Amino acid sequence: APTPAIPDDATPMMAQYLAIKHAHPDCLLFYRMGDFYELFFDDAVKASAALDIALTKRGKHAGDDIPMCGVPVRAYEAYLAKLVRSGFKVAIGEQMEDPAEAKKRGSKSVVARDVVRVITAGTLTEDTLLDARSHNYLAAVAEAQGTLGLAWVDVSTGDFAMQAISPKTLAAALARLEPGELLVSDRLLGNAEFHEVWAEWRNVVSPLPTARFDSENSRRRLEALYGVGALDGFGAFTRAELAAGGALVDYVELTQKGRLPRLSLPKRLAEGAVMEIDAATRRNLELTETLSGERRGSLLATIDRTVTGAGARLLAAQLAAPLTDPQAIEYRLDMVGFFVEHESIRDQLRETLKRCPDVERALSRLSLGRGGPRDLANVRDALKEIPSLRTLVTQSHLDTPPGIGQCARELGEHSGLVDRLTRALAPDLPLNARDGGFIAQGFHEGLDELKSLKTEGKGALMRLQVRYAEETGVTALKISHNNIIGYHIEVSSKQADKLGEGFIHRQTMANTARYTTTDLIELAGKITGADDRALALEMELLAELIGEVTAKAAEIALAASALAGLDCASALGEMASAARWSRPRVDDSTAFDIKGARHPVVEAALEAAHSGPFVANDCDLADAQRLWLVTGPNMAGKSTFLRQNAVIAILAQMGSFVPAESVHMGVVDRLFSRVGAADDLARGRSTFMVEMVETAAILNQAGPRALVILDEIGRGTATFDGLSIAWAVVEHLHEVNRCRALFATHYHELTRLTSRLSALSCHMMRVKEWQGDVVFLHEVGAGAADRSYGIHVARLAGLPGAVLTRAEEVLGILEKSDQASGMARLADDLPLFAALAKPKPVAASAAPQVSALEEALKAVNPDDLSARQALDLVYELKRLL
Ligand code: ADP
Repeated sequence: APTPAIPDDATPMMAQYLAIKHAHPDCLLFYRMGDFYELFFDDAVKASAALDIALTKRGKHAGDDIPMCGVPVRAYEAYLAKLVRSGFKVAIGEQMEDPAEAKKRGSKSVVARDVVRVITAGTLTEDTLLDARSHNYLAAVAEAQGTLGLAWVDVSTGDFAMQAISPKTLAAALARLEPGELLVSDRLLGNAEFHEVWAEWRNVVSPLPTARFDSENSRRRLEALYGVGALDGFGAFTRAELAAGGALVDYVELTQKGRLPRLSLPKRLAEGAVMEIDAATRRNLELTETLSGERRGSLLATIDRTVTGAGARLLAAQLAAPLTDPQAIEYRLDMVGFFVEHESIRDQLRETLKRCPDVERALSRLSLGRGGPRDLANVRDALKEIPSLRTLVTQSHLDTPPGIGQCARELGEHSGLVDRLTRALAPDLPLNARDGGFIAQGFHEGLDELKSLKTEGKGALMRLQVRYAEETGVTALKISHNNIIGYHIEVSSKQADKLGEGFIHRQTMANTARYTTTDLIELAGKITGADDRALALEMELLAELIGEVTAKAAEIALAASALAGLDCASALGEMASAARWSRPRVDDSTAFDIKGARHPVVEAALEAAHSGPFVANDCDLADAQRLWLVTGPNMAGKSTFLRQNAVIAILAQMGSFVPAESVHMGVVDRLFSRVGAADDLARGRSTFMVEMVETAAILNQAGPRALVILDEIGRGTATFDGLSIAWAVVEHLHEVNRCRALFATHYHELTRLTSRLSALSCHMMRVKEWQGDVVFLHEVGAGAADRSYGIHVARLAGLPGAVLTRAEEVLGILEKSDQASGMARLADDLPLFAALAKPKPVAASAAPQVSALEEALKAVNPDDLSARQALDLVYELKRLL
């Protein structure tokens, strides 16, 4: 049932509906009808399916039923959340006047309606629709003069920034932002060069007409927004950046129907200012979610000790964008160091911050005209804590680092506003301003008067009721109120005739009769009048207070970001203290000297499972040995070692302490990882294909300041194929990329390359053989592993004993001869599962005869066996039978 054109004979309401719908063709239209938002035609079909609610019909259009579904206005946010999450945009069509007004115009006229807001994934502001601890970015990409520009904004906080990017770095920049919605021009969407990028973000792309990305219009748009003659003061923006920024602001304004949230001055992210990390590397390192898509178990979840939503968002943003300027990194490290050093200040600060609500989001709602009394209270409650926070971090005996000094200044001075809000707001605030009662007693004389009028009125009603009961002798006479006839006198039908002259009949119910009197009418008028006037006055006062807050929006936003900065730094300080992390030294060298390092997530997992301590390891990628080849059996800890070094580089450059005894590293400008990929079925690629695509990206892009970690290249194909590819990749890394790199492999043959590649250095995961068993030491040592112990791992995994025995036989033969002839021998000589098929010959001569089985049993000491060994033993004994 697609939305039809507006027919001549449409009812006025249907004509109105269709007109609004045609103006918002890409949205589901929530059409307000009294207590419901209703959806019609295709919208109803789609929404009822997505929401799992009943699809009904209402009226006919051109002879066919019109499909319809509806959601109650009281509970619409939950439905909205579900629709937006499923990728829909929703236009909210409100009633713009009281239905009574429409009636006055004539019985046929419809209530005026209009769309007050379009809700899209990138423009949410409601706490119920947002994750308090994550940013929700709306991003736009634009092209001008052959270069690209990226702009992004978090509408819920007002964070606004732009960046010039090259076609090559677009993917990494988007991976860093993880936008909830991405605006792209039709022309750019059709550009084959970015086909892969758009595919990656297909669920969040909102195509826009190319004309909306005009850089000159955008410039004027932004200059008007900030009331400046030229934007140059904020940074030297490229035309592409401006085009993206303008389109973005335009889109926000369009969806908010002319209103703009408070936007920060546009920050400019300079080229190369942050470590570039592509999407695959982010996934592989499990920075914000695990490979299985959970937040728990990610690096972010493991290190996040923030106590406010804004602090959590800042921490996530810092982790997503590690810095490349050593000075900027030092600035943050100084802040974290301060909180590591001053434990009691840190504790008190965090206790205080816990009481601070989310000012950024409250402020954004208030500036969009969508805020209520509770948002004002949130602003008040956070600002209230500022004096004690400032005192905490700026005590005179402290050597306060510049970063904290700046936060302390930016917290600002808000006592006037706090005072005023404290006096203005009632202790208990309604969710909805329309419910009234949010202005405190004593704040406004006129309001207090109206309220006492109402209270007095109620007392007068009581007295009237008592008087009427006495006069008429009907003791059960009551004065009641309902929404239809208002205040009235109620008596049982049997006693109705006892009422005298002055009682005017209103209604007769089953057992009761309802009356009014001129006195009652007058009194009721006073009460409801006072009520209405009180609410109107409260709304006026609310608007005034909101005006006072938004007038100070810039200062409040600065305070909010300072609060977030303190939360973030103290949380990293807390993490560093709790887990014994150290301060890294980051400079412009190409050092990578890491001592006694751990992987924070694996360490935490081991701790939680009480399974032994994490074994710390060193890594030194000095120029003379910048490429490490790490060999060792499966499960020995190779990938953990690789990842921990990458993770440490990220933590250090985001300005955090690191899980190591000491770290000295030169800034990494790009980080690449290729770690055990999973099949990308959605895009029809095999594991091997994914692996090769990622490897190609690394070899093509890694420069001398990059850090590369490569795990098990060539595993997904035949042995010789794989070995040859791995071989060539190592050579390329060494000779062409010349960057710091860790290369884990199970191809021991690669270690022979050391003789030819001077900066290649061999390392292995240490393993101990003990009583026929293999123990992983998780220790990195010099040299190359000589065995894979794959069969050992297979045993740990519970492969049947017969298979393990057979595998050992095959391995023995292969190891004794070269591979080709070994294979031939295997095929000829050894019948399949010979061990099982052939009973062992028993020695004929020996007397007394002891079978191999008995011999084996005698050798066993049951108390020494683990459960696994006992199971293996049963297999072994069975084999001897
Ligand atoms: P590989 O890549 O060699 O197959 P992993 O790095 O996946 O091995 O490690 C396998 C498991 O060994 C990990 O899940 C972890 O439990 C344990 N492990 C790895 N490194 C260490 C370490 N340094 N200390 C203690 N346990 C470790």
